[in-house]
Amino acid sequence: MIQNVMEIRWNDLQEMDMNKTVLFIGIAPIEEHGRHLPLGVDIYETQFWMDNTMKKLENEFSEYTFITLPVIPYGHAVMNGFRGNIHLSQKLFYDLILATLRNVVEWGVKNIIVISGHADPRHTIAIEQACESIKKESGVIAFAPMGAIFSGKVLLKTEDAICVEKQMKQFSDDFHAGWIETSNMLEIRPDLVHDNYKDQPDIKINGRDMIIPQVVSAATKDYGHLGCPKEASKEIGRILNEWTIQRIMHCVAAYLRRTDYDIYEHHQLYNIPSLRVKEEN
Ligand SMILES: [Zn+2]
Repeated sequence: MIQNVMEIRWNDLQEMDMNKTVLFIGIAPIEEHGRHLPLGVDIYETQFWMDNTMKKLENEFSEYTFITLPVIPYGHAVMNGFRGNIHLSQKLFYDLILATLRNVVEWGVKNIIVISGHADPRHTIAIEQACESIKKESGVIAFAPMGAIFSGKVLLKTEDAICVEKQMKQFSDDFHAGWIETSNMLEIRPDLVHDNYKDQPDIKINGRDMIIPQVVSAATKDYGHLGCPKEASKEIGRILNEWTIQRIMHCVAAYLRRTDYDIYEHHQLYNIPSLRVKEEN
């Protein structure tokens, strides 16, 4: 069963068996996504991936109740020079997640999954650090698999995904509002993808420079994307979304069984000190 917390009462929560209840928290920012995609891309992706993961989990874990919050429209990034961004500092974002986790732990929830469509490593790592903090404080394990998924640690591959990987090699470094996100949105909300995606120039920087805000700002200037939007298609979006959902499903299933899920707890770059939340950040 899937339930939205907006539609239930506090005593419904009281009556749930918390050992068999799973809370999904989606969190992603309002953010510019080029001249061809809407500001809500990361939120639409988050919602779509969560909803479809829960639908699959419902079959495999039919004894569980899955509950969701509305997607929290905040995140961390440094991206100046565009209208339409709402970004928090990494520390404030970490505090927001930790506060949310503290509240739901008070409800008695014992299975908490945090999903985000926003792939900035500092954003992802802040979520993972908040999960680590709540575990230290309360013993409750909150699980955020997107860092592992985005950084390529979840090796699960479908046949379709292998085909798309060829395109990933050919049109690599597609970091923001490029063919990957444009394709995703062509499946999720085609009505919100502006036809001018076919006219956007290819803009490329390498992966290492992605964590240097000045380089990112200079490259995205005037356009707002990083990658090759014109290579997008709805079919690729269908494959990419399904692959992401399969990987989330794989990680969450391991977490619910509490077997070998810890390999998916962290982004590849989790231990790099400059990417982590600092007290004075
Ligand atoms: Zn995005």
